[in-house]
Amino acid sequence: MSTNSDKGGVIIIGAGQAAAQAVMSLRAEGHEGPIRMIGDEQEPPYQRPPLSKKFLAGEIGFDRVELKPASFYADNHCDLVLGCHVTAIERGSKTVRTSDGRAFIYDKLLIATGSRVREINVPGFDLEGVHYLRTVGDVKELQAHFREGARLVVVGGGYIGLEVAAVAKKHGLDVTVLETADRVMARVVDPIVSRFYERIHKEEGVKIRVGVTVAGFEGEGGRLTRVVSGEGESFACDFAVVGIGILPNVELAAEAELAVENGITVDEFGRTSDPDIFAAGDCTNHPNGIYGRRLRLESVHNAIEQAKTAAAAIAGKQKPYNQVPWFWSDQYDLKLQIAGLSTGYTQAVVRGDPEHGRSFAVFYLRDGVLIAVDAVNRAPEFMMSKMLIARHAKLDPARLSDESISMKEIENA
Ligand SMILES: Cc1cc2nc3c(=O)[nH]c(=O)nc-3n(C[C@H](O)[C@H](O)[C@H](O)COP(=O)(O)OP(=O)(O)OC[C@H]3O[C@@H](n4cnc5c(N)ncnc54)[C@H](O)[C@@H]3O)c2cc1C
Repeated sequence: MSTNSDKGGVIIIGAGQAAAQAVMSLRAEGHEGPIRMIGDEQEPPYQRPPLSKKFLAGEIGFDRVELKPASFYADNHCDLVLGCHVTAIERGSKTVRTSDGRAFIYDKLLIATGSRVREINVPGFDLEGVHYLRTVGDVKELQAHFREGARLVVVGGGYIGLEVAAVAKKHGLDVTVLETADRVMARVVDPIVSRFYERIHKEEGVKIRVGVTVAGFEGEGGRLTRVVSGEGESFACDFAVVGIGILPNVELAAEAELAVENGITVDEFGRTSDPDIFAAGDCTNHPNGIYGRRLRLESVHNAIEQAKTAAAAIAGKQKPYNQVPWFWSDQYDLKLQIAGLSTGYTQAVVRGDPEHGRSFAVFYLRDGVLIAVDAVNRAPEFMMSKMLIARHAKLDPARLSDESISMKEIENA
């Protein structure tokens, strides 16, 4: 076993979205000591959103997915340790241990371990042809099935499943989406938006089945040939993609006895229950002042902003995290942009025509105050709403739905 000591050094566990941002922000905030990033994937940090969009479609290569060129890490004196899994954090000696028997000493530690796919636990789960989507490697496996007429069953009508369905349809595949809930994207959007996406996918030729619970996968010679439902239906297919959510990677933190509750518990500065250990991104549970409660989010914006906050705190600057969450999803020619959290809304106000058109917004008000927006091909509504949500703006529903009044006028009222 070797020990690598970096006096005054920062170690980042994970080499994803939050990790790459942390390197940038640590240097920008004036941290001059060593930085070492340890990630278990082979690739340097890359963006995941294109994995279910343009990269899956083959429209862009890995060079457009990578977050930074290799020179960035060298220029910023960040030692990139890839293909290396961190197995333990020993807080007493400020050491992290890796699966290849190495040990690294930290002064400050940033946990940016992200999340992993939730696996489906039904008979046949391990048949060849049952896929998930989280990494570049997963995309390569999926693309091998992308030929005209191939039959794909998508298990889960969340945003990743629907994005995969849209790309596969564009490539001429025969696509069926199976969703257990009574509507797609039920966890993130209002029924108005779910119904809109169900209509669009049907118009594009994707079969959407809601209220269907997958009970198992069946195959021949070890290869998947059909998906069977608890309701007794059988869906013949050549391959399946399972998109039923994620689990935050909190085990390292929990084993090191850091506070963990639905994510690694951090304060508004990204600090865990150990003042020398910080966490950022999908793996955290953090306080949000705008909504007055703790959140665990799965989004690029959250990973970037939390990494900025944690890096500032590590560099000795207090910049509390207080952001309106936002997120996007691309399906066909539609850009869905979501700002805020709609949980607990008392009124949904529609601007535009979701039943016939391809562009509209749904504003969510709680006692007249804007708390969230779902905007489809409506950049101004999204942009203005982000600002209005942060301001806790009280808005007139009649004006919001009136398209003759611009968002600028509404914002300035
Ligand atoms: C297909 C797909 C599409 C998406 N689309 C969108 C979108 O449109 N918009 C949006 O806002 N968000 C989207 N997301 C979510 C977004 O990509 C994540 O929220 C974001 O990547 C989180 O960043 P992170 O740094 O927390 O985690 P990650 O980027 O997942 O990075 C964590 C890294 O840590 C590594 N790691 C974990 N444990 C260890 C360990 N013990 N040792 C070493 N390394 C470890 C992981 O392997 C991983 O490489 C999408 C995600 C996926 C998978």
